[in-house]
Parts: sequence; C-alpha cells; structure tokens
Amino acid sequence: MAVKPSIKNGEIMTYRVEIDRGRCISCASCIEVCPDFFEFDDDDLSHLKGSERTDDNVDVLELEDADCTQDAAFGCPVNIIHVYEDGEMLI
Ligand code: SF4
Repeated sequence: MAVKPSIKNGEIMTYRVEIDRGRCISCASCIEVCPDFFEFDDDDLSHLKGSERTDDNVDVLELEDADCTQDAAFGCPVNIIHVYEDGEMLI
C-alpha cells in the first residue's frame, strides 16, 4: 500500500529510512559509508541523525533524497537498515 509522503518545510519527503536499533551489532559500517546520516548514540548503537525514535527502538527519518542511506543499508551485515520510497521498501 502506497503511503502519502509527508511535507516538511515545503519539501516533499519521498524517502523514509529506518534502523531497527535493537538488533544493531555496532559494526560501524553504516557510519563509515554514510557519516552525514549515521552515528553512534550514547548506547553505542547506530543512530539516524535527526530521526524520531519509536517505542520499539526504531529510528525513523524522512528525507527528500535517500543520498547515501541506501549504500549504508546494503552494507549492514545484519540487514536492519531499510529505505522506503513512497512507502515501498527499496532495501
Ligand atoms: S551497519 Fe548495521 S549493524 Fe553495523 S552499526 Fe550500522 S546499523 Fe548497526
């Protein structure tokens, strides 16, 4: 089911990136590949900069452009980074 993209500051947020932090093994691959968007939080698990965190410990960030987040998702050894375009999962 397609999800209507949200609009922030007049920009259409086409992409959504999520990290299932509870399964992060702190390997730092995403941070090396895409440091503009990923960093370690105080608990040494990956964090999406500027994201919202759900009660299930998932970081969610809406973006106009997926940029390097897809590369980070491809490189995650435990496949816990997902990128959606208009609600459809790309990876
Ligand atoms: S690549 Fe995956 S497992 Fe490694 S730090 Fe990033 S989110 Fe965690």
